[in-house]
Amino acid sequence: GSFLETSNGSFDRIFGIETEYGISVTGTEQPCPAPEVARTMFQPVISRSRSTNTYLQNGARLYLDVGSHPEYATAETRSPLDALKQDLAGERIMIGLAQRAQDQLQRQHGSQARVHLFKNNVDASGQSFGCHENYLLRRQVSLDDVRRLLVPFLVTRQLFAGAGKVTRSGFELSQRADYLDEAVSSATTRSRPMVNTRDEPHANPDLYRRLHVIVGDSNRSQTATWMKLATTHLVLCMIEEAVEQGTLSPCEPYALIDPGKAIRAVSKDVSGQASIDVVGLADSDASMRCSALSIQRAYLEAAQDFVTRHSDDGDVMLDDAGQVLAVWSDALQAIETGDWQSLSSWVDWAAKLSIINAFKRRYVLTHESGSSPSWAQLKMLDFEYHDIINGHVFESMEAHHRMRTLISTSQIADAVTNPPANTRAHLRGRFIQAALAKDIPWSCDWTHLVATGLAETGEERHAEFEIMDPFMSQATPEFEQFIDTIR
Ligand code: ATP
Ligand code: MG
Ligand code: MG
Repeated sequence: GSFLETSNGSFDRIFGIETEYGISVTGTEQPCPAPEVARTMFQPVISRSRSTNTYLQNGARLYLDVGSHPEYATAETRSPLDALKQDLAGERIMIGLAQRAQDQLQRQHGSQARVHLFKNNVDASGQSFGCHENYLLRRQVSLDDVRRLLVPFLVTRQLFAGAGKVTRSGFELSQRADYLDEAVSSATTRSRPMVNTRDEPHANPDLYRRLHVIVGDSNRSQTATWMKLATTHLVLCMIEEAVEQGTLSPCEPYALIDPGKAIRAVSKDVSGQASIDVVGLADSDASMRCSALSIQRAYLEAAQDFVTRHSDDGDVMLDDAGQVLAVWSDALQAIETGDWQSLSSWVDWAAKLSIINAFKRRYVLTHESGSSPSWAQLKMLDFEYHDIINGHVFESMEAHHRMRTLISTSQIADAVTNPPANTRAHLRGRFIQAALAKDIPWSCDWTHLVATGLAETGEERHAEFEIMDPFMSQATPEFEQFIDTIR
């Protein structure tokens, strides 16, 4: 039988986004080290959970590893749009924590103290941190399939998914490109993979992998986050289908000879013309060179064909697939014709580059002729674009409707308290709400819920419930019984 035919429909998928944030403080006489500020931010979390690592009633995980990068890992969702909404809820939660930390710093250091929380991927000293995308993938797709068929897409999707970066020599599309060199590898200290192979499916390992994509930039643009996940999802569907049917994928010829070199070349070229070495067609032994744009075009065409072929199945995975394809096609068209400015309403790098160019023009008007802004001034603008506490450039674009939004502020507020209704996060959320309401000791991870402490009967309690199926959202009698034990 077909491995695609699961009880959840052919191309059903789980999505989750992990976002790490960078911290800095300005306006204090003595420097405030970022790890200290991070601890201040997490005081409310510690006082609730006695730990800097907790799960929230919306099903998400909020934590602070060693170091100074608070992280929010969204609950499991079933659509890119829901994952976006959950990630925005994480942003909202981080803003609350950082603003409280800023108030506290101002009491100690005076009213000039400012906390900056960056939703980006490189700090001021050049250290990189991540935004991880998680996709449930059928186990039959091998990591070699991922390397050949997905990585060329990931390396070139920067054309619309890159967050942009000011460098000493100019501007690049992606924040992460400089920090990755291998396509697929288990994380060791030496290799810097684009897809992490650590095998933690948080689901039945015979059926699924959790594909852990660590090559992407954090996006501020809602539309960019949505498109990044939605296009990647379509590519994964095509790969699953090709593997299932034993057919050759139309994207087979684009397997990269040197992914690290390719990702840096793509990042440096806003025209999409960066030339990339690919293995080429099976019936010719010569490798080929092709542009980033032509690789994206090949994926887009394959996706258009895929969506058309499945348009009456009823199980085409995305309600909004038509819209995704249209936006994708427009993006490639705009880049091809050199009209990247028209993408500044949703592509982060294009928005950022427009802001920088406008700044340069204003600078020329107000300064001696021949002078231009310093690298440090441009870098500051770059950082401000990502500052979710004290940044204004991105916020002002959204406020003036120059940034296309998909999720309203009230939907974000809703996602701060409510988990997605159609995954196991719904059950996790119910458990956490019940445990918090009864004030009993509890813990959980993505697949387990555990209640401990003294029960009303005076006996030591250890009640545990396992949810291996991430699609499970309906409470079973066993689940109700489990919830009853903590009443
Ligand atoms: P690290 O921070 O070390 O990379 P990690 O990637 O192992 O950790 P978490 O930070 O806990 O893990 O985040 C896990 C993410 O994976 C969450 O966004 C979650 O919603 C998502 N997720 C959980 N189960 C699945 C699954 N079966 N398939 C896809 N995504 C999943
Ligand atoms: Mg994580
Ligand atoms: Mg991760």
